[in-house]
Amino acid sequence: MSVDMPPDAPLIDPRAFRLTEAQAELAALARRLGQEKFATRAARYDRDATFPTENYRDLHEAGLLGICIPKAHGGLDADFQTYCLVAAEIGRYCGSTALTFNMHVSSCLWSGALIDGLELARDLRAEHDARRAIHYRRILEDGAIYAQPFSEGGAAAAGAVAFSTAARPVDGGWLVNGKKIFASLSGHADYYGALCTELREGEEPSRRHTLYLAIPADAEGVSVTGEWDPLGMRGTVSRTLIFKDVFVGHDAALMPRGVYFEAATRWPHMFATLSPTYMGLAQAAYDFTVRYLRGEQPGAGPVKRRMYPTKQIAVAEMRIMLEQTKALWFQMLCEAGPNPTKDQLLRAWAAQYTVMENANALAQRAIRTCGGQSMLKSLPLERIYRDSRCGSLMLPWTAELCLDRIGRGAVYETGESDE
Ligand SMILES: Cc1cc2nc3c(=O)[nH]c(=O)nc-3n(C[C@H](O)[C@H](O)[C@H](O)COP(=O)(O)OP(=O)(O)OC[C@H]3O[C@@H](n4cnc5c(N)ncnc54)[C@H](O)[C@@H]3O)c2cc1C
Repeated sequence: MSVDMPPDAPLIDPRAFRLTEAQAELAALARRLGQEKFATRAARYDRDATFPTENYRDLHEAGLLGICIPKAHGGLDADFQTYCLVAAEIGRYCGSTALTFNMHVSSCLWSGALIDGLELARDLRAEHDARRAIHYRRILEDGAIYAQPFSEGGAAAAGAVAFSTAARPVDGGWLVNGKKIFASLSGHADYYGALCTELREGEEPSRRHTLYLAIPADAEGVSVTGEWDPLGMRGTVSRTLIFKDVFVGHDAALMPRGVYFEAATRWPHMFATLSPTYMGLAQAAYDFTVRYLRGEQPGAGPVKRRMYPTKQIAVAEMRIMLEQTKALWFQMLCEAGPNPTKDQLLRAWAAQYTVMENANALAQRAIRTCGGQSMLKSLPLERIYRDSRCGSLMLPWTAELCLDRIGRGAVYETGESDE
């Protein structure tokens, strides 16, 4: 943090939104790390499209790699809402770090709080508890990083068909074959938490047989190919992963057999964990504009532009959009959990759509309001603009799919058709 920069205010005011003390403290920790360390490195990762390795060291040191690991396993025991508050603070300072942090943390959230909220047979739960302890220990003790490669370029990541990455049962585990595209953290994660379809003798591949397997990056048959030179989120290094006859033992399972399908059906908010990154970017676009108009943006010179009524109106409209976005997003965080009502689910899609679209709308407005000098690469705004454009593309809850589902859900009840 520059010596002239006071600490940023919380993205979600703990008092106004009635956060717990623990939530406020964790969010403050992330904000401090973000403002003091991640913000200063973000331009380099973006320019060179390199992975934010130093940031991950800091996250490990601060205990945040284990943020969603249950207390009984030595972690910080954060629930869905707490994780989102923390990730949004990181997103304000480095989009790529926040987005990849999501992939890592989801492996703990899904195998932790999410599964703990589902009914599971006692023996299955005991087996899962013993297995997840192995993964959690690696994260807490060794700083292991987990990626979450789902996308394959077909319809599977949208939930329409079974994953074509296949896990064939063999003695002691599975043999995995397949390809994952846009695999963030590729070449940098220690484990790839891949969704695969378990092949069953005499049965068609089915989404019900999805396995969530942590494949070691150094296992024989794992390779990373292709380039990563995208518009935004350049530090995610989301290259292509190939699995060729990769053997993994039963301990690789991050969820017991059959549970991923149940979780995806009964705990749909699990797909909203990408939204905090973009909530953070929305806040960053607004904060930049205020600082710039006041002549206080580091690197931009002390020229004040706040006295023009057009600027004041623009910033007022930005503030209104930011407050609307935040309010709906926070409501969604409060409602996340197993078996949401139809209204809660429609609201979750509306919140996801709003965050993803408004983050970029705010960044666009910031550039227009601040003017030409604000989009120079020496300042963070143009990176925020490019990073924020990527939010609407994230499957399975892309902006388009949210619209599809809200529209259909609004006019059809379950089981209704016009035939
Ligand atoms: C910066 C970044 C990082 C990413 N990191 C990861 C990662 O770590 N792991 C991972 O698994 N993925 C990751 N993704 C991939 C992401 O989730 C999508 O899979 C990817 O953007 C899909 O691109 P596509 O062109 O193949 O989509 P397509 O499948 O070609 O879809 C194009 C568009 O069509 C629409 N569409 C798709 N399916 C349907 C349908 N059934 N019905 C109606 N409309 C549909 C959607 O709106 C979609 O945006 C990342 C993406 C980005 C941009």
